[in-house]
Amino acid sequence: MVKVVLTADRTLLSGYNGHVFLGFAACAPKLLPEWLYTKIFCPPVEEENNRLKYAHCGQRKIEAALLKHGFREQDIAIVNSEKLHHVVNKETRVLGITTHDPLGLGPASSMFSDLMNKETYTASFFRKLMSHPLIRKYNLKVIVGGSGAWQLTDERIMAKYGIDCVVVGEGEITAVDVIDKAMNGDSFPSIVQGDVVPLEQIPLIHYPTINGIIEICRGCGRGCRFCNPTMLNYRSQPLEFILQEAKVNVDAGNGVLFHAEDVLRYKTKGFIPDEKEVLRLFTEVKKLTDRISFSHFAHASVASNPGLIVKISEELNVGSKTYPFMSGQAGVESGSPQLITRYMKGKAKPFTPKEWPEMILNSHQILRENHWVPVDTMILGLPGETPEDVRKSNELVQDLSDYRSLIIPLYFVPIGFLKDNHRFFRTKDMYAEHWQLFAACIRHSIKWAYALAGENLTATRMKWWKKAAIKQVIRIIDRRLDPYLKLMDEGINPRMQNT
Ligand code: SF4
Repeated sequence: MVKVVLTADRTLLSGYNGHVFLGFAACAPKLLPEWLYTKIFCPPVEEENNRLKYAHCGQRKIEAALLKHGFREQDIAIVNSEKLHHVVNKETRVLGITTHDPLGLGPASSMFSDLMNKETYTASFFRKLMSHPLIRKYNLKVIVGGSGAWQLTDERIMAKYGIDCVVVGEGEITAVDVIDKAMNGDSFPSIVQGDVVPLEQIPLIHYPTINGIIEICRGCGRGCRFCNPTMLNYRSQPLEFILQEAKVNVDAGNGVLFHAEDVLRYKTKGFIPDEKEVLRLFTEVKKLTDRISFSHFAHASVASNPGLIVKISEELNVGSKTYPFMSGQAGVESGSPQLITRYMKGKAKPFTPKEWPEMILNSHQILRENHWVPVDTMILGLPGETPEDVRKSNELVQDLSDYRSLIIPLYFVPIGFLKDNHRFFRTKDMYAEHWQLFAACIRHSIKWAYALAGENLTATRMKWWKKAAIKQVIRIIDRRLDPYLKLMDEGINPRMQNT
């Protein structure tokens, strides 16, 4: 008798063929039909007894928090959103939904959908999930959380999708409380800010996660103005805790993927990596598995301790045939020290905003020598950005052209401390310089994506036809985009032209 069903839209319930960064594809507008997109990029997670064998890391934390709160195993199920009918019945009271980008308003998706005037896969699959007939049939209480919850904090949007409560921020205390109230028929707020969870109250996951993702730190502490304020609370898990979560995953056939906003700052008290703690993390987890990767790191951490990158790479044998390169997302954001000063001083630490462009190049040099490939982000349209600021970003992208990396352009999204007084950046706001910067980022990324797809895909166990299909998709995108990119190089909005 399952009382609480946890799910997410289809784009969050895939291992992306073991390549989490292919998850960026979900932020793209629907250029391929959904069936083809899911087949190539987004295959479903394996299931056992109608439950997901591997779940989203956030779902596993909520599941563990519910169990700690007193729910029984049989009360809870984490399921594929396309298979709700296998589990949901008249006993079910609550549907908990984890979201990342429910309306396609995230930085990458808002840019691509606005540019191409099409809905993203993220928004499309979320809409599909919310219209599932069983939600109405059994009058389920729908409680939504996750990193994309901020997009839904509007009573009209909630009414449109039939959402009873949106939990913004951390969920282990607040979402569990709301679920408990919903189960007991008590009232609960419709929009609620999640309490920051003290480190010792973050529960251990009981079951494996998609791609073995485990959260080693929560929060960040660098304080960028455009980031969620809850990121200010920086906490690192003890090694023993991490080893237990790693073991849960390794025993289930996974490798381990560390999630933190900057893995290199694990257990650090300031802004310079604590080499001893970071190396201990990698060496101890390596005793469980060779398959270790991570989600995010900061260029400032790389540049402030190049020796650490060398040692991690040696430990993991990065650059070998079986581990050709290490990858992770890192913020470049802008080439303009003025904008770094205004919006993200902390991101540069221990360096100064003035040193930012040089530090970024230095970091890429260190990464190249150690076979690391950053997935860089570049923000277009920070409030007050001038054409001169954009030219500086463009110069930086040109300087990075020989370094293996992807550079993903993103539109500025007003969240965090900039939420109330600023609006979304839109295609109509683009300067000629923005078009040139956008084209430079896309050319850079396509060039290196194609080269890396060849290298990395040969080292994976992905089926041959998928490897070929992914390379072919990159080639087609390159060919299709070329005439548009040529116009952008001239600073021209390609949508205003007949190409
Ligand atoms: S470095 Fe990243 S996670 Fe940290 S505050 Fe800045 S944007 Fe947020």
